[in-house]
Amino acid sequence: MKDKRVGIIGAGPSGLAMIRAFEAFKEKGHAMPEIMCFEKQSNWGGMWNYTWRTGVGKYGEPIHGSMYKYLWSNGPKECLEFSDYSFDEHFKKPISSYPPRPVLFDYIQGRIKKSKARDYIRFDTTARWVSYDEETKKFTLILDDLKIDKTYSEEFDYLVVASGHFSTPNMPYFKGIENFPGTVIHAHDFRGADQFKGQNLLLIGSSYSAEDIGVQCYKHGAQSVTLSYRSNPIGVNWPEGIKELPLVTHFDGDTAHFKDGTTEKYDAVIMCTGYQHKFPFLPDNLRLKTKNNLYPDQLYKGVFFNDLPELIYLGMQDQYYTFNMFDAQAWVARDFIMDTYKLPKKAERRLDMDKWLERNENLQSSHDHVDFQTDYIKDLLALSDYPDFNLDKVAEMFKSWLNDKAENILTYRDKTYQSVVTGTMAAEHHTEWMDELDDSKERFLYEPEEEETIPENI
Ligand code: FAD
Ligand code: NAP
Ligand code: MG
Repeated sequence: MKDKRVGIIGAGPSGLAMIRAFEAFKEKGHAMPEIMCFEKQSNWGGMWNYTWRTGVGKYGEPIHGSMYKYLWSNGPKECLEFSDYSFDEHFKKPISSYPPRPVLFDYIQGRIKKSKARDYIRFDTTARWVSYDEETKKFTLILDDLKIDKTYSEEFDYLVVASGHFSTPNMPYFKGIENFPGTVIHAHDFRGADQFKGQNLLLIGSSYSAEDIGVQCYKHGAQSVTLSYRSNPIGVNWPEGIKELPLVTHFDGDTAHFKDGTTEKYDAVIMCTGYQHKFPFLPDNLRLKTKNNLYPDQLYKGVFFNDLPELIYLGMQDQYYTFNMFDAQAWVARDFIMDTYKLPKKAERRLDMDKWLERNENLQSSHDHVDFQTDYIKDLLALSDYPDFNLDKVAEMFKSWLNDKAENILTYRDKTYQSVVTGTMAAEHHTEWMDELDDSKERFLYEPEEEETIPENI
């Protein structure tokens, strides 16, 4: 078995799921192939490994992180729970449904810290280039060890790309923006609301980043927040102080002009205009080329590159489900690598992808999107021994979460949900989300002492 070599690019939740899948296999008494994971940051966790840096890092590599201070889960944690490592197992007590980033980072690490996962990972190492030899059927991966400034290569039979796709900004141009006197940044470089206190903010985009950065800035004291949409407004019940306008047409100094004729002055512009799938280390013929959507073409079962299935992509879909979807993918990828799951012929795989693509094309509502990704994961779970969990119930939770947000965008994070893994009902957080300005793990897990009560009859 040792003669099979598996390379993994990235040690975020997807790359760690791949490592965990192999470890679960080993725990059942099977032999492991040789696995090596390369991570350009100094620590694991991908997006969840917060960095204060923007632009380039210590070694001149583009900064991967897009997360920011005061980021709280934007969906119930019960929708992303690992089915082989519950929140109860990790925290030893019920916690609320919407934890802040440091708490989820801690959870992701808990499962993998129990093992020797770190030994498989080379940190501060960037995957620079990949080539595939048709004769030897091997991938050559060229790597840069950033710490010692050394380039070297490794050969693999299988290559897993788990490098994420919410890191390279999509940054559109609007006429006149070059003369805007205030801050103009992309959400990728947003590191928290502090600097925007008291300001009038314009956020372009109408998806999760726009919604969350807008609400955070409002919560932490921005003067006003305007969201500008291209296709559709987010359309929830916004509080006084946040509003939606159609797309900006151009800027004139600090004044933005909108499609409906409105004009308004702003102090800062944050482009919440999404990200590009970017793989600078992959040649044209191996590179996944897609927009952010629920079913990128060319990936059989959402993971196997159809022209060369030994090339495996994890986590490339737009995401309702996250950690548990990456697990479901990694378990199937593992079984293919271990020869216990056989792929059908290429043409058959094409037909299967076409079926999903057609359904994807015809999705209408966000509830349809949830159902689509739910069915996709069901399809994956049928192929491996990843512990089953009640996906229909998770889908219901997602739909209920969508309704909670539409009802009140400022209080939806105070709601609680029930785990499908343990049956545990989430605890209510000790402080309402709008009043909670501290996102540390210590503060989150702190339990206020019971007030001392003196019985009246003493
Ligand atoms: P990533 O987490 O992006 O990890 C990829 C890893 O690959 C990184 O560590 C990176 O350094 C490494 N890498 C990249 N290129 C190279 C290279 N060339 N060489 C070596 N290493 C490389 N999901 C939720 O479930 N809940 C949330 O609340 C939530 N909030 C989010 C907030 C923001 C602002 C963003 C951008 C995403 C959020 N997500 C959230 C979704 C997030 O994408 C997933 O939770 C998860 O982090 C994806 O895991 P991943 O491993 O696929 O990618
Ligand atoms: P996204 O979901 O891909 O959305 C991109 C948005 O940009 C869309 O609204 C799109 O509008 C708009 N857009 C693209 N090009 C544009 C242009 N030229 N002009 C105007 N608008 C344009 O990206 P995202 O919102 O950054 O979210 C990425 C991921 O981060 C998601 O997985 C999300 O869950 C996660 N996230 C989570 C949190 C959290 O709270 N935990 C916070 C932020 C982000 P159209 O609709 O017109 O295409
Ligand atoms: Mg199964």
